Amino acid sequence: MTACYTAQKVAAGIWHIWDPMGVGMTLLVGTQRALLFDTGYGLWDLKGFLQSFCPKPLTVLLSHAHPDHVLGALRLGESVSLHEADFPYLGRYSSQCMRQMNLDAARAKGLAPDSWACEHYLHAPMPGAVPLAAQRFDLGGLHVRVLPLPGHTPGSIGLLVEERELLLLADSWNPQTWLFFPECCPVERYRQSMRALTGLTYKQVLVSHDPFPRGEAALRGFIDGLTDQVLEGALPYRVPGHECFPTRCCEPVPQSPFIFDAAKWKPVRLKPHPGT
Ligand SMILES: [Zn+2]
Repeated sequence: MTACYTAQKVAAGIWHIWDPMGVGMTLLVGTQRALLFDTGYGLWDLKGFLQSFCPKPLTVLLSHAHPDHVLGALRLGESVSLHEADFPYLGRYSSQCMRQMNLDAARAKGLAPDSWACEHYLHAPMPGAVPLAAQRFDLGGLHVRVLPLPGHTPGSIGLLVEERELLLLADSWNPQTWLFFPECCPVERYRQSMRALTGLTYKQVLVSHDPFPRGEAALRGFIDGLTDQVLEGALPYRVPGHECFPTRCCEPVPQSPFIFDAAKWKPVRLKPHPGT
């Protein structure tokens, strides 16, 4: 089956691009420049797809170092920016072994990688990654603020597209939010990052594994629901393919599960008073 990216216009100058493997990336187009947030798996011609409707100079930001976000950079021929806290993971997650797993996964889904991927995907060099230095980008009529969100990985970031009141949270919030890989931060650090979002002005939220935007109230409910009591009540839950982790699952709000490594949740407990 021939696969192709699809693009959904979310707002003026904003396209959420869907990788057939099941992950999104977002293209922000100003009057002067464009910015691509994440790059997908890279099994199809991403550069050709982007140029078909946006010929402007492109800045590429990676939300974090996981393979479904970074390997599309193989198809762009542009340097990419990544928070320096995720640099230690980039080599492992863009390795030949990881690429082979992606090719196998695509074929298992019945999605044929394109001819370039069949020939070059395993061995193509990753474009240079540079530490993300800017805190705000001016694309021309569109200003984008970088939001550090340590949690899902230490160097995870989100973006606030100011004029569109749009938050981009990548894997920091998903239909299932995962915090169980070895590089994930403790749950408390993640919770601090998410609570820091509550002072921002936004109306819509885009995340990596949902093709459709969500409303501000849904994110607020998730953050408010991430209480000690809810975390303490999390039940053992095995994630297919990741059974080696002692994962637990809770629902801060209905149908928005949060799955974490039990070892990463150590609530602060008050010491018992002497003599009690
Ligand atoms: Zn991730």
